[in-house]
Amino acid sequence: MQKNISKMTQDEKITYFYELKKERNAVVLAHFYQEDVIQEVADILGDSLMLAQAAKKTNAEVILFCGVHFMAETAKILNPNKIVVIPDLGAGCSLSESAEPKAFKKWVENHSDHTVVSYINSSAEVKAMSDIICTSSNAVKVVKSIPADQKICFAPDKYLGSYVARETGRNMVLWNGACMVHETFSLEALDKLIAENPNAEVLVHPECPEPIIEKADYTGSTNGIKNYAKKSNSKSFIIVTESGLLYSMRKEMPDKKFIPVPNLEGCVCNECPHMRKNTLDKMISALENLQPAIEMDEDLRVKALTALDRMLEIS
Ligand code: 13P
Ligand code: SF4
Repeated sequence: MQKNISKMTQDEKITYFYELKKERNAVVLAHFYQEDVIQEVADILGDSLMLAQAAKKTNAEVILFCGVHFMAETAKILNPNKIVVIPDLGAGCSLSESAEPKAFKKWVENHSDHTVVSYINSSAEVKAMSDIICTSSNAVKVVKSIPADQKICFAPDKYLGSYVARETGRNMVLWNGACMVHETFSLEALDKLIAENPNAEVLVHPECPEPIIEKADYTGSTNGIKNYAKKSNSKSFIIVTESGLLYSMRKEMPDKKFIPVPNLEGCVCNECPHMRKNTLDKMISALENLQPAIEMDEDLRVKALTALDRMLEIS
């Protein structure tokens, strides 16, 4: 089935999307940083760990991954026999792109007596050269699982790495990568919001730099931030992460107030430009054509799976 969607209303597109999803026996996995309509039509909305776990469990024939490339690639590593499609193949990640495989290989060789921990925000090539993977929800747990006498390299997020080093007391060699969204929140604007909202709790993603994390009442993954707000007795929260998370927080906690933080340019619009490349139109096209699909060399997949499985076993 293929229809011309150019003159369809949003509701008509959504109806058509559900028809296609059924016809393809597809599951839609979406990250919290996706635009509102994508969050609405997703089967599973989650953070990186939840989505990797969902990808491992699904019985669907097709996975439509609404996130960025490394996330869809992770789903393919876990499901070599399923079709994994992504609405926009160009949805990258500044962290993943900072760890170019050749340079990473050299770094690993220069630290051959170290255990290599890589953040899931990395390419399959980097995962294949790593000993274990982590996400922002389990990074501290993963590092704590490594024997105390073992030296550790952590890549590619230097801010998440230094947060984990502070939390675990481990001295780690860090790759010099950063998230282009989380490193640009304004400390000055955050201080102003804290002064204006003295009863609000400050919830921060660990991809932020240390001076921002120092202000946090809670630091954790996107799902961790959401769960903390659900359990807390506070009525207002200053949220320091990509603004897409606010949509699901406001929907699920309508009686609570969520305050976003401006970036260094003063804009309260801290959206990941990669995540926002995905649209409903592109999702429809991906299901119609089963393209763009993630393809991967089998040797590479098996090597990357070893490090990924180690993480999933301890999560
Ligand atoms: P989590 O999904 O682990 O919260 O990480 C956020 C992120 O930046 C994903 O790209
Ligand atoms: Fe990468 Fe940051 Fe975008 Fe997440 S928010 S995909 S870490 S650039």
